[in-house]
Amino acid sequence: MDVTILEASHHVLAKVKISGGGRCNCTNSFEGINDLQSVYPRGHRLLKRLFKQFDYRDAYEWFESRGVKLVTQEDHCVFPQSQSSQTIIDLFLHETRRLGITIKTGTRINSLDELSAYDFIAITTGGMNKPQILNLRSAEGRLLPEGRKKPHTIVSPVPSLFTFTIEDQALRDLMGTVVEASVMIPGTKMRASGPLLITHWGMSGPCILRLSSYAARQLSENNYQLPLSVNWTSLKENEVQQELMTFCRQYPHKQLPSMRPFELPQRLWNYLLDKSLQGRAHAPWGSLNQKELNRLTNILINDTYQIAGRAPFKDEFVTCGGISLSAVNPSTLESKEHPNLYFAGEVLDIDGVTGGFNFQAAWTTAYAVATAISSACGQS
Ligand SMILES: Cc1cc2nc3c(=O)[nH]c(=O)nc-3n(C[C@H](O)[C@H](O)[C@H](O)COP(=O)(O)OP(=O)(O)OC[C@H]3O[C@@H](n4cnc5c(N)ncnc54)[C@H](O)[C@@H]3O)c2cc1C
Repeated sequence: MDVTILEASHHVLAKVKISGGGRCNCTNSFEGINDLQSVYPRGHRLLKRLFKQFDYRDAYEWFESRGVKLVTQEDHCVFPQSQSSQTIIDLFLHETRRLGITIKTGTRINSLDELSAYDFIAITTGGMNKPQILNLRSAEGRLLPEGRKKPHTIVSPVPSLFTFTIEDQALRDLMGTVVEASVMIPGTKMRASGPLLITHWGMSGPCILRLSSYAARQLSENNYQLPLSVNWTSLKENEVQQELMTFCRQYPHKQLPSMRPFELPQRLWNYLLDKSLQGRAHAPWGSLNQKELNRLTNILINDTYQIAGRAPFKDEFVTCGGISLSAVNPSTLESKEHPNLYFAGEVLDIDGVTGGFNFQAAWTTAYAVATAISSACGQS
C-alpha cells in the first residue's frame, strides 16, 4: 500500500514540536479517572469504544517499543524521558521512512477533487486555528463544495482550554498566587477543582482550564461573559464554618490576618478578609460575631466574579466542535456519506482537558482509521 501525507505547511508535526512547553505531554496514565467524560467533555463515548483498539497503554507501549523511553509524572502526565518533543517527532519521521511513507510538505489541499487519485482519504487537518480544507468550517457547516454529494454535519467549532479575564484589580494584585480551589458557573452543573493561579489578567491554572473546557460552548454563546463562583477551600459550608469557629475558640486574642485557616496564602487571606469584613479585617478572632462569620464563610466558599473575556493559554489550546461523531462509523471513523473518506484527530468533535488527553485522542483515532484502511485494502 502506498501512503502519502499531504501537509500544507513546510514542516509536519509543528504542533507536536511546541506541545507541552516543548516537552510533548504525549499521553496520560489515566490513573484515578473513572469517568472518561471528566477528561473528554466531547467524544468520551466514542473514545471509550475506540480505546478497546488502542488506548494509553498501547500508546505507551508503541513509543517504548520503538526506543522512546517515557516518564509518568506525579500528576499522571506522560512525557518522553528526554523531555524534548523532538524525540517524538524523530520517531514519527523514522517510522515514515521505515515504512516508505511519502511526505509532501507545502501541499495545501483545498478540495476533495484534488485527491481523486487516492483510493482512501484520511482527513486530519486539526482544530479551527489551522487552515481547513473543503469549506470544513464554513458558516453553512458543509464539508464538501456545493453540488457534490451530501455535506457532513459540522458541530460549529469554538475554542477550548483558555484562561479567564477578570476585571478586578485587587484580585489581579495577587498575581502569582496559587491555591487548591473549586470553581463553577453558577446555575449550571459545570464545576472543576484543582490548582488555581491568579494572573495579571485574571485566573488561570488547571481548574480554570478544565472549567473552560467543560463550559466551552456556553462561554462562547455568552460572549465569554458569565459569572464565576470560586470556593477557595474546596470544602462544604458547614466544614468551613466549623474550622472558623475552631479558630475563634483557639486564637481569641490573635488578629485575623495572623492566623490563616485552610493554609490559604497570606496575601489571598488578607484580600478575602478585606473583601468580607472591610474595616474589621484586623479584628481579633474572638470578636467575630455570627454575621461576620457568615460573611467570611460565604466569601471563602462562594466568592463571585464576572468573567470578562477569554485569554489564551500559552501551553495548550484545542477546538471544541468539528466533524459530528454521528456522521462517522464509530469503529472505523469512515464517513457515513462518503465511502473511503475517514477522519482522525482534532478535526473530529472530540476534545479533552490538558494532561496528554488530546494527543491520546489523536493517536487512538488515527490508529482506528489506519487499521480500517489497512483492512479495507486487505492488509494488516
Ligand atoms: C501550544 C499547544 C500545546 C499543546 N500541547 C499538548 C500536549 O502537551 N499534550 C496534548 O495532548 N495536547 C496538546 N495540544 C493539543 C494537540 O496539539 C492537538 O490536540 C493535536 O495536535 C491534534 O492533532 P491533529 O493531528 O488532529 O491536528 P494538528 O496537530 O493541528 O495537525 C493538523 C495538520 O494538518 C495540516 N493542515 C491543515 N489544513 C490543511 C490543508 N488544507 N491541507 C494540508 N494540510 C493541512 C496542518 O498544517 C497541520 O500540520 C497542544 C496544542 C497547542 C496549540
